[in-house]
Amino acid sequence: MQLRIGQGWDRHRLAAGRPCILGGAVFEDCPVGPVGHSDGDAVCHAVTDAVLGAAGLGDIGGMFPDDDPALAGADSVALLARAWAEVARRGFKLVNADVIIICERPLVTPRAGVMKEKLAGVMGASPAAVNIKGTRGEGMGPEGRGECVTAQAVVLLEEA
Ligand code: MG
Repeated sequence: MQLRIGQGWDRHRLAAGRPCILGGAVFEDCPVGPVGHSDGDAVCHAVTDAVLGAAGLGDIGGMFPDDDPALAGADSVALLARAWAEVARRGFKLVNADVIIICERPLVTPRAGVMKEKLAGVMGASPAAVNIKGTRGEGMGPEGRGECVTAQAVVLLEEA
């Protein structure tokens, strides 16, 4: 059995009036949301980059160019699903994913269960295969000043 690891990292600026969607979870009560060509879901983007990396399929920018008009406002869970379809077609299944979300707002931990279900669901895995961790910048750096949300992901795949 071959195991393959991949990592992903993404950062999006936060701005007032943008829908706040992270890991497919909607934070209706958050006054700021990630800015992006798509819905700006940095968590989905980091996980997508991690699974593509693990499978040796390049990166999210290669698969989904950020100047493609068809992707304006795109649902990033759907983008992850499309990337995962390519990964699964090559015979991989998810062992586990571990995700760190760094931001001042929103408070992500209360919606960790929703994110686990969304992310695991599109990757054909149990929610127990996805771990979500939230942390803050403690006033330092762009995350600590509330300017952005940053997400890091590590995934492990195995040949099915
Ligand atoms: Mg992104």
